[in-house]
Amino acid sequence: MRSVHLLTLPFLAGAMFCSAQVQDFTKVQMKVTKVNGNVYMLEGAGGYIGASVGEDGIVIDDDQYAPLADKIRAALNGITDKPVRFVINTHYHGDHTGGNALFQKDAPILAQDNVRKRMEHGGTAGNLGKISMQAPAHPKEALPIITFEHDVTVHLNGEDIRALHFPSGHTDGDSVIFFPKSNVVHMGDDFVTYGFPFVDLGAGGSVEGMISAVEQVVAQLPADVKVIPGHGPVSNLEDMRKFVTMLKETLAVVDRGIKQGKSLEQLQKENILMPWEKWNGGFLKTDTWLETLYNDLTGTKGEFIRHN
Ligand SMILES: [Zn+2]
Repeated sequence: MRSVHLLTLPFLAGAMFCSAQVQDFTKVQMKVTKVNGNVYMLEGAGGYIGASVGEDGIVIDDDQYAPLADKIRAALNGITDKPVRFVINTHYHGDHTGGNALFQKDAPILAQDNVRKRMEHGGTAGNLGKISMQAPAHPKEALPIITFEHDVTVHLNGEDIRALHFPSGHTDGDSVIFFPKSNVVHMGDDFVTYGFPFVDLGAGGSVEGMISAVEQVVAQLPADVKVIPGHGPVSNLEDMRKFVTMLKETLAVVDRGIKQGKSLEQLQKENILMPWEKWNGGFLKTDTWLETLYNDLTGTKGEFIRHN
């Protein structure tokens, strides 16, 4: 299995893990959706962007890929002529931080401590199995210049925009972004709608942490909150509950198999994830999700960056 650069992590279906071609961004169009209150969602390529837009300017979370920066700016200019004031990164992956160096000319970038560390040093992202991608080290212009350990709040647009860190989920540097006045939450890649999720075990992620993050968020938000996934259309708490139920059930069934002494190959041959087949294929095939669960449960862990 060849490794591919994180830049080619476009969450496209198919054999992307075997393909090193660089994505063509020229045809990408920015679609802007008003989510609720003064929060918008931008869909182009890569991670979906949340944007608080108001009298004080714009706060965006995530910035997709560098070649899309002008399209993102144009889309924001279509909503307001006010400037971007802050950018928050939900995690370090290149499809969420690719525009950092360009956007940081306009506004400071905030992120959890581990986002900066991982972007500074680079490393190998993946599930410690079939998924393996080189995450490059970034120049300092692209690194978040304000970092936090647990949470930070940006008080603009009459909103207390809060980035709250949940440890060891999709990665070890994830933040969920809350827009309480607008009743919107942006989950980063701790919640996606493309099927079985990618959990970056190589960067300190874990399935248990992803479950915990989603459950905690679901427990504290009002029933009618609007959810921006890391990838996918605006969703609701019921979608998050179905997602976390799938995570827990598939984790439990693989755990049972491991305790019965079965190898990954045996579990794959027995097709033990067949009941969850409808989650197959958006980004991860069933066998790759099984491999992720197996590696997670058997403690095949990547390098975990400790806080402090
Ligand atoms: Zn990601």
